[in-house]
Amino acid sequence: MSNDGEKGPKPGEAARRPGETKQAGGGTSPPAPRRRPGEKPFIPFARFEDVVVRCGHVEKFGLLPEGQDRFREGRRKKAMGRDCKACRERKQREEQEAAQARRAEKEKRKMQDAEQTPGPEKAARSQPGRLPDGSQFEVRYDAAKERWSGSLTVPTPGGTPATFTGSGSALFPLLANLDKQYRATLT
Ligand SMILES: [Zn+2]
Repeated sequence: MSNDGEKGPKPGEAARRPGETKQAGGGTSPPAPRRRPGEKPFIPFARFEDVVVRCGHVEKFGLLPEGQDRFREGRRKKAMGRDCKACRERKQREEQEAAQARRAEKEKRKMQDAEQTPGPEKAARSQPGRLPDGSQFEVRYDAAKERWSGSLTVPTPGGTPATFTGSGSALFPLLANLDKQYRATLT
C-alpha cells in the first residue's frame, strides 16, 4: 500500500492539498481520494524565475504556490546542476552523430582491407605459377588487434632469401598479398 504519509510527494510532484496537514504517528488523516498509480494531483506553477544552469544558459524555473512547494530548493538545485534543455538535446545529438561516424569509419577500414588484400581466387587467377621450392609462410594472429601478420620467405638463385611481410584482418587474403608481393618482384 501507499505510504505517502511517510514519504510525502517527490520533488516536482505537487504538494499536499491546501488545508491538509501532516499527521504525526499516523493519526486520523482523512482517507485520501483513490488515485490510479502514476496519477498526480496537478498544481500549476504560480510563477517562474530565471536560473543559470550548469552550461551557463538561463532556464525558466517554475515555482509552486507558497506553502505548497516543500521541495523547491531540491528542485532548484537539480535544475541548476544540469545543462539546459537545448544543450542536453545538442549533446545527445552529437553523441549519436559520433557513434554513426565511428561505424562509418569501421566500415570504410573494412572496405580498404578488402581492396588491399585481393581474394585468394582472384590472386591465383591473375598470377599463375607456383612458388619456388622451400618457400615458407610464417603467420601470427593478434587477437587484441584482430589482425594476422606474417611473412613469406622465398629462396633465390643468389642464395639470399627474399622476405615479404604484411598484415591483414583475414588470413587467406594476407597469404595472397604476400604471394603477390613476391610475384611483383618477378616482372
Ligand atoms: Zn545550455
